[in-house]
Amino acid sequence: MDDRPENLLAFEATLESLGVRLVRANNAGEALEHVLEEEFAVIILDVQMPGMNGYEVARRIKAMAPPRLTPIIFVTALDRDRRQVHDGYESGAVDYLFKPLEPDVLRQKVAAFVRLFEEREALARRERKRYADLTQAAAHRAAATLERISDAYVALSRSFTIEGVNAAAERIFGRPRKVLVGQRFWDVVPEAARGEWVVHLERVKHSEAEAHFTIRFPRAGGADLHLEVDAYPSDDGGVALFSCDVSERVHAESALRESEARYRTLFESIDEGFCIAEVLFDENGEAMDIRYLQTNPAFERQAGFSDAVGKTARAIVGDVEPAWFARYGRVVRTGEPVRFQSESARMHRWYDVFVFRIGEPGNHHVAILFTDVTQAKQGALERERLIRELDLERSRLADVFRQAPVAVAVVRGRVARDLVFELVNPRYQEMLPPGTAPIGHSISEVLPEATESLYKALQRVLDTGEPVTVTDFLVPLDRDGDGVPEACFFNFNYHPMHEADGTVSGVVGVGTEVTESVRARRDAERLQHVAEAAERRVAFLAEASARLAGSLDVEATLETIAELAVPALADWCFVEVLERGVVRQAVVTHVRPEMVRFARDLIARFPIDLNAPYGTGKVLRTGEPELVQEITDETLVGVAQDDEHLRLLRTTGIRSSISVPLFDTQGHAVAVLSMVSSDSGRPFGQPDLAMAMELARRAGAALANARLVEAERAAREEAEAASRTKSQFLANMSHELRTPLNAIAGHVQLIEMGLHGPVSDAQREALSRVDRAQRHLLGLINDVLNYARIEAGRVEYDLEPVLIRDVFTDVLPMVESQVGAKSQILESSLPEERGAEPIHVWADRDKLGQIMLNLLSNAVKFTPEGGRIVVTLADDDGPNHATVRISDTGVGIPDDKLDAVFEPFVQVNSDFNRRAEGTGLGLAISRDLARGMGGDLRVTSELGVGSTFEVVLRRVVTVGGAPVERRSRRERRAEGERRSGADRRDQER
Ligand code: ADP
Repeated sequence: MDDRPENLLAFEATLESLGVRLVRANNAGEALEHVLEEEFAVIILDVQMPGMNGYEVARRIKAMAPPRLTPIIFVTALDRDRRQVHDGYESGAVDYLFKPLEPDVLRQKVAAFVRLFEEREALARRERKRYADLTQAAAHRAAATLERISDAYVALSRSFTIEGVNAAAERIFGRPRKVLVGQRFWDVVPEAARGEWVVHLERVKHSEAEAHFTIRFPRAGGADLHLEVDAYPSDDGGVALFSCDVSERVHAESALRESEARYRTLFESIDEGFCIAEVLFDENGEAMDIRYLQTNPAFERQAGFSDAVGKTARAIVGDVEPAWFARYGRVVRTGEPVRFQSESARMHRWYDVFVFRIGEPGNHHVAILFTDVTQAKQGALERERLIRELDLERSRLADVFRQAPVAVAVVRGRVARDLVFELVNPRYQEMLPPGTAPIGHSISEVLPEATESLYKALQRVLDTGEPVTVTDFLVPLDRDGDGVPEACFFNFNYHPMHEADGTVSGVVGVGTEVTESVRARRDAERLQHVAEAAERRVAFLAEASARLAGSLDVEATLETIAELAVPALADWCFVEVLERGVVRQAVVTHVRPEMVRFARDLIARFPIDLNAPYGTGKVLRTGEPELVQEITDETLVGVAQDDEHLRLLRTTGIRSSISVPLFDTQGHAVAVLSMVSSDSGRPFGQPDLAMAMELARRAGAALANARLVEAERAAREEAEAASRTKSQFLANMSHELRTPLNAIAGHVQLIEMGLHGPVSDAQREALSRVDRAQRHLLGLINDVLNYARIEAGRVEYDLEPVLIRDVFTDVLPMVESQVGAKSQILESSLPEERGAEPIHVWADRDKLGQIMLNLLSNAVKFTPEGGRIVVTLADDDGPNHATVRISDTGVGIPDDKLDAVFEPFVQVNSDFNRRAEGTGLGLAISRDLARGMGGDLRVTSELGVGSTFEVVLRRVVTVGGAPVERRSRRERRAEGERRSGADRRDQER
């Protein structure tokens, strides 16, 4: 059957050579009609047809009564649709042909079915013919035979009344012969099959042609009987029926068909590789190879090779692991199916294999169902490896968790305050009070002292999913177990714990101890702070010292102190000075001028009480500093002199104060430096006090200095004024005295010359005394004048290299007579007299002469008769100086007068004084002159033994006895500056 004529033609062309009768049907209706009408050896049905498809047609054929057992071959192009194939089998197909048709296959299949059909037909016909041809005479024999044959025999009359049955028929109908005979056949056949019977038997009766059909014979309470019926028209117009029970065959056939269909479906459609193979054994009975007999389409894909049928595994694959064959061998021997997974190293594949024996044990056939599980296996292996690694990792993590030097806690929840401890490690546990079991408890339970900021931090992690770090978290821990917790510090990192859906369901807190570094840092900060403060103080004190050193008057100094203090040290600064028993507020400073006025007014209204037990009064009395770190209202109440004072004090907002004393050089407190901090400032502490005391020490010294300087300046001014007056007086007086003295001398000379008349010897004698006295007086006056001039700085020096011998020679005549008069010895000891190099000194020859005359006169004057006076020149005062010594064996000078004799008008012994006369100016003048020449004059003396006066002078470097100018230009300039204008003029020349 095919809806396309060209296809039908193709079938006919293909099958023509078989010599079979072909009945064509162009559609389902035609096909069904044909099937109803006659029996076919095979039916070929096209599946795809308009209207009713091939499967439906097949189902209808199968549903026909009596059932048509004709084999059906479906023809379809839909070979890919396996479900359709299944449908086909269900609807009764025994085979499939796929388009395009292979003519050979089609021919063979059809031929096979036709042969089957013909063989059966022929056999049946021969049998029946034999019986039908029995003669009447043989009827009895036949009857007996009938009785014995296995087919059920029923003879029907023209009216289909049962005329005879045999034993087999009795068994089929389930009733005895006497019941059956005489009954109408329709009444004994089951009603369901009655129609079918009627059709078949009527046709036989009318056509008088035999018919062969199979009929289903439903039986109550049992499996249906399938009867293969041969119906022959009998001579008397009836019908003879021979029925063979083919129920078993039909059942078997259909069962076979079903299982085969199932098997084929599976075989073709499964994804597993499937093959039937013969296991090959060697002579020892060991399985050593297999030969493939049949493979399914998936075989190639799973096995990795094709065209296996007929070949052996070793031939295809090569060295197959013997274990594989051993398993197959075992299946063959034992018949027990095995299932295993194994690797084919050769093929680098893993297989899941199911092997079972099929067929006779002797043919060594096995069916092998296998799947390539390489990927799954590799996946499994990889998974195993990962799991092992994961386990390792997990155990490592657990170790880390346990042993980590960090504290770890896992808390679960979505609200910070309700977070519940899920896990803590030992280090974290340490941070909790002993005996605390945090697991399962909320943070607020475990850490009742947790701060709001901790909850805030945790909530932020929960809300944002971002980690949060809390640094320098203070955790009191009693590590040394002394019951007093130490301050330990931790940095906490709070990490979110994410769920698979991305929400945050908890927090992992990881705490790292940073106690050491925090302590170190805090120490460093403190030290830094201290160092900076110290530095500031040092800088401040340095500045203070510098500024105090610069201010030389008292008020300026006090103001400087106060200015230094504000605002560097305090908001206010007061300096109060004790003057003649009264405290004077010398300075007030504040950053705001109106506050300065306020303070001055306040002190004016409420003066400082020297006897107060606090503040300025106390500090002045005790000399002790006072630090009030916290000025409370009570303090103010205690200090206030009345209500108004208290009110005013309260307005100042003062907070802290320091008062330190300033001492004078004798250590008396003479002033108080007070510093006050108000609301804006910080309270004072010990360092501030120390600082203030340092400042006070410097200020005190500066103040004392200023006072000294002031006092000294005043004294000097006074002295200078007096000295000026004295010099002036001396100069005037000398001048005024010299004029009349000169007049006296002149008039004495006139008298001596006899201008006023003759002069008697006695008169002449008296006149000479007047003259001597006049000269002496003039000398004295000249001395005074000289000294006055030196004092006034009006003396000029003419320095040159001088030989002491020359000077000695100059002055010797002036003292010789006095020396002689006192029978004294005057000698000199000079280098040249000792045969040594003469020594030159820088000196003004006249002035050095004046000094030596003075010293020699004194020596003669203060040395008794017969004494000895020696003049020496020594170079024992260093290479740059020479010393002229004038020693005597005179009365000497007491030690306490050794300095005084150089003061003007000082004479040691009034007795001597009167006796020796003089002004007491000689040594003063001599020393001034010696110093004026760059030298000095000094004395050593022993009372009653003698005195030695030394004139130290600068020495001239000489070569071969002549002085050589060896001084540097700088020395000459310095020298020049010391010298008088006359000398300078000399030098310039
Ligand atoms: P004057 O000789 O006019 O008194 P001087 O200044 O020369 O003044 O001397 C001051 C005093 O020093 C002398 O009065 C004397 O008492 C003491 N004096 C000076 N030279 C000697 C000496 N060589 N021996 C002892 N006393 C001396």
